[in-house]
Amino acid sequence: MPAVDLYHDLRTAVRDLCKAFPDGYWRELDGARAYPDAFVKALTDAGYLAALIPEEYGGSGLGVTEASVILEEINRSGGNAGACHAQMYTMGTLLRHGSDAQKRALLPKVASGELRLQAFGVTEPTTGSDTTQLKTMAVRKGDRYVVRGQKVWISRAEHSDLLLLLVRTTPIDQVKKRTEGLSILLVDLRASVGHGLTIRPIRTMMNHATTELFFDDLEVPVSALVGEEGQGFTYLIDGLNAERILIAAECVGDGRWFVERATRYAKARIVFNRPIGQNQGVQFPIARAHVNVEAADLMRFRAAELFDRGEPCGREANMAKLLAADASWEAANVAVQTHGGFGFAEEYDVERKFRETRLYQVAPISTNLILAYVAEHVLGLPRSY
Ligand SMILES: Cc1cc2nc3c(=O)[nH]c(=O)nc-3n(C[C@H](O)[C@H](O)[C@H](O)COP(=O)(O)OP(=O)(O)OC[C@H]3O[C@@H](n4cnc5c(N)ncnc54)[C@H](O)[C@@H]3O)c2cc1C
Repeated sequence: MPAVDLYHDLRTAVRDLCKAFPDGYWRELDGARAYPDAFVKALTDAGYLAALIPEEYGGSGLGVTEASVILEEINRSGGNAGACHAQMYTMGTLLRHGSDAQKRALLPKVASGELRLQAFGVTEPTTGSDTTQLKTMAVRKGDRYVVRGQKVWISRAEHSDLLLLLVRTTPIDQVKKRTEGLSILLVDLRASVGHGLTIRPIRTMMNHATTELFFDDLEVPVSALVGEEGQGFTYLIDGLNAERILIAAECVGDGRWFVERATRYAKARIVFNRPIGQNQGVQFPIARAHVNVEAADLMRFRAAELFDRGEPCGREANMAKLLAADASWEAANVAVQTHGGFGFAEEYDVERKFRETRLYQVAPISTNLILAYVAEHVLGLPRSY
């Protein structure tokens, strides 16, 4: 957090909204593996999910910095912004590369909540992190693309109206570079399910509404192509920095929540006639977790500042995501340890948040792949994969 918090009013407003969705709300949804509809509606109605949509399309035209503060506060309040964060960064692909007609038709509806653009389809079961090898093909036939293939881990597809889908439009053996020949289609999920698209939920260790998608000759109108055919990978990369900064902020929010809960419990829990937090063995890990969360936060603000100035920020966005995900995971472990047996009890919410924050070691990009990026693109070491 900057020394003088420039975002005090925004933080206070988001915190106030989150008060209507206390621990018990998230705990109940977690048990039922249910989607936080009421929360997402409240967030949309208050305009927060449209933070990055320009005012001319009905949004508030804020920067990634402000958007990241919104997501941070949700996680810091004990909630899980993962239920809806994608709307913020998927929208950017449409905004930067969509046609005027697409933007005019869709963005005002996304801003008002009439349409949900919550789903982003990249990962495939057989190719994983090796994105350019993806197998889902879209073959042009007249004014349609016919899509065939499979995606995995596509979150919120059951709760979204639109899906940004990365497909191959030119076979990999017909392009010079493997990053060429990929395209982005904006798929209308409502019209597609049952007509060539099947969505199958995947139950995971946390409540994340993630799914598998099966494309069996799904027909998508050519007008759903975003930008130019074959340029999809470039558009994808464009949006990744925003995604990494926003998720770093969620991790900072998680980290602060864990440190606050651990501190509170360590002061209140009396064992051997003293608060457990009086023992250095208990207080030092909490203090260290706090230090690491604050350090990660600085990198997150640095990356966000560069992004909002339109300057290159790939290295900072990646480093922010890595540091923040590590810091929140460390803080999660410390919070469980500090709570002793109660760290495992559902009613304390520590175990729920522990499961939720674990995801960010793997998604949307795994820690190893960030280290590989830093080694190659920042330090100039040989490409390792
Ligand atoms: C709950 C959840 C939600 C998700 N939501 C979405 C979504 O909405 N849309 C979407 O497109 N995707 C989504 N994902 C997918 C996510 O982005 C991928 O899981 C992630 O990118 C890793 O890919 P993978 O699972 O295929 O792992 P793999 O690529 O198979 O990697 C497995 C492990 O091997 C390591 N590894 C692989 N290659 C190397 C290497 N060269 N060097 C060192 N280590 C390596 C990785 O770091 C990882 O730890 C989601 C995943 C989860 C679990």
